[in-house]
Amino acid sequence: MADDKERKTLEERNQMSDLERLRHSCAHVMATAIARLWSDAQFSAGPPVEGGFYYDVDLAHRISPDDFPAIEAEMKKVVKENQVFEREVISREEAMDLARKGRLAALGERDTPSTFKVDLLEDIPDDEEISIFKNGDFWDLCAGPHVGRTGNCKAFKLMSVASAFYKGDADNPQLQRIYGTCFKNKTLLSEHLERLEEAKKRDHRRLGREMGLFHFDEMVGQGLPLWKPKGSIIRRQLQDFIAAELDKQGYHQVFTPHIAKLDLYRTSGHFPYYEESQYPPFAEREALRKLSDDDSSCGDLMNALRKGEVEGFMLKPMNCPHHICIFASDHHSYRDLPVRLAEFGTVYRWEQSGELGGITRTRSFTQDDAHLFCTPEQLGEEIQGCLGLVKTVFGALGMSDYAVRLSLRDPDSSKYVGDPANWDKAEEALRDAVQTLGVDYAEEPGEAAFYGPKIDFVVKDVIGREWQLGTVQVDYNLPERFDLSYIGADNRPHRPVMIHRAPFGSLERFVGLLIEHFEGKFPVWLAPEQVRVLSISEKHNAYSEGVVRMLAEAGVRVASDLAADKIGAKIRLARLDRVPYMLIIGAREEESQSVSVRHRDRDDLGTMTLNDFVGQVCEEIRNRSL
Ligand SMILES: [Zn+2]
Ligand SMILES: [Zn+2]
Repeated sequence: MADDKERKTLEERNQMSDLERLRHSCAHVMATAIARLWSDAQFSAGPPVEGGFYYDVDLAHRISPDDFPAIEAEMKKVVKENQVFEREVISREEAMDLARKGRLAALGERDTPSTFKVDLLEDIPDDEEISIFKNGDFWDLCAGPHVGRTGNCKAFKLMSVASAFYKGDADNPQLQRIYGTCFKNKTLLSEHLERLEEAKKRDHRRLGREMGLFHFDEMVGQGLPLWKPKGSIIRRQLQDFIAAELDKQGYHQVFTPHIAKLDLYRTSGHFPYYEESQYPPFAEREALRKLSDDDSSCGDLMNALRKGEVEGFMLKPMNCPHHICIFASDHHSYRDLPVRLAEFGTVYRWEQSGELGGITRTRSFTQDDAHLFCTPEQLGEEIQGCLGLVKTVFGALGMSDYAVRLSLRDPDSSKYVGDPANWDKAEEALRDAVQTLGVDYAEEPGEAAFYGPKIDFVVKDVIGREWQLGTVQVDYNLPERFDLSYIGADNRPHRPVMIHRAPFGSLERFVGLLIEHFEGKFPVWLAPEQVRVLSISEKHNAYSEGVVRMLAEAGVRVASDLAADKIGAKIRLARLDRVPYMLIIGAREEESQSVSVRHRDRDDLGTMTLNDFVGQVCEEIRNRSL
C-alpha cells in the first residue's frame, strides 16, 4: 500500500499509532471482503486517516451505501476467521512478477495485472525494502505496520463512498474511495458514531439555513457570507458585548477603509510575499488606461504592479497596517502609551475553494481586531488584559473548557528579529499571563513567528470538539518596518512594541462555533427572537398585541403568532425556530392580565403577571444568563 500523495518514510510508518495500525489493518480487511464480492476489484491506496481509514478501488460496479451491509457482513467473516497478518520481504522482481499476475491486493492470480500496484511498485525508492502482507489468501503490497490478526478489527463500520483520482491527479483514472472507521472496541466505536450524529445535528451550515441566519449567493461569490437579519442580531450582540469590554479596558474604536495602496502592504511586507492568499491587486484607472493604450498584457500589468511602477490597490488582508498609520499620525510620548486601537475590521483572503466551509472558513471575515502599541515594560500588563477579556467572554458563554498554546522561539536559531533580551521578557510576560488564566497550556519552543512569540486559544465545545480561535501576537517587526517611535522619559525616541490581538478569530467563525455549541438554542441575550406571543383564539388578539407592545417597549425582541391555527401547531413552530420563551394567551390570561409562560428547554413555567414576566426576561437579558 502506498499513500495518496507522498510516500511515508519507513520511520514515519513505524511511528504510526496503535489506532492507525488497527485502522489500516481494517482497510485490508475491507479490501479482502470487496475482493471476495467483486473479483475485478483493483485497489490502489488504503491509508489510515483522521477518524478512520479508506481504500481506493477501481471496480465496474458502482458501490453505494446500499452495498455496505453486504461488504460489512463479508468483513465480519474475515474478522471471525482471525487470519494472521504475515509480513514477507520479497525482491523487487518477485513483487513485480506478483503484480503482473494480478496477485497483489487480490485473493489469487488473475488474468489482469494489479495495475495500480505495478505503478506503485515503481515509485518505491531503490534502497527501500519491499514487503507484502498476507491475511489468508489476500496478499497486498504493503510496508505495514499492521496489527497481529484480523480478529483485532472487530469494532468497525463503513461510513461513506466518494470519488477520488488515482494519486490525486485529475489526469489519472477516477476511483471509488470507500471510507470506514475502526476502534479498539465496540463501546469506543459507538461513542464515536454518537459524536458524529451529534455533530451532524449541530452543523452550523444546516442550522444557519433553517434558522435564516446567513446566506451564500452564487452572484455574490464563494466564501462571501451574507448575514441575514436574524444572524446579524447574534453577531451584533456579540460584537456589542466585546466592544463594551474593550471600552472598559481603555481601547479606542477606529474605522478604516477596506482597501489601501499596494505601497502600504509593500512596507508591511504583506505584498507580494503572501500574494497567493490575497485577492489580486487592481490598478489605478489612469495607469490601466495607459497600459491598455500601450497594448500591454495582463502579465505586464501584474509585473508593473509588483514592481510598483504603476499605482495599485488591494483589498485588505490585515487591519494592522491601517492601524499603524493611525498610530503614526500623532507624536507620542511614553506617557501616552499604551495606545490601544480596536476595530471590528473586515479582511479579505483568497482561501482555496476546497477549504471553504459555511461561515467558519470564508473569504471575507470580520476580526475582533486590535493593535496595542506599548513600551517593552508594559507588555506584561497588556497581555494580561487581553487574556482577561478572553476569560470574561468565554465565561459568559459557558465555555470553560479551553486550552492555550504558547509559541516560543527556538533558542538555537538566529532567524528572529528584535533584541534577545526583549524576547526573554516577552516570553516571560506571556507565560505569566497564561498562568493567571488557570487553564491548561502548552509551551511550544520553535513555534514562534520570526517577529515575536504568541498565544493561541483552542476552545472545546459542548460535545468536546476543539476549535482553533484567535491569537495574541507580540510583534517586533512591524514597528521597525514602519519606523514607529515614541519619546521616552530620557527625551529620546524609542521603538514601541506592538501586540496584535484577535482572541476570537473572526465573528464569522465565532458565531459558527456558537451555533454548533448551542445547537441553535441561543441564550436569551443572543437569541434573534427572544419571546413569541401565541394566542389561543383570535378573540384574544387585541390583548396579545398589547403584550407584544409592552415587551417591545422594554427592549425585548418579540414577535407574535396570532393566526387562526391551533395552539399546538404554533408551539411546535416556535420550538422549531428555537425561540426561548413562548407566551400563551387565552381567556384566563386576558382576564387576569397575565401570561402563560413556556420555555424552549424547560418545563411549563406557569402563569405570571405580565409585569413580572417583563421584569424577569429583562433581567435575564441584562445578566446574559445562560
Ligand atoms: Zn497494509
Ligand atoms: Zn495585526
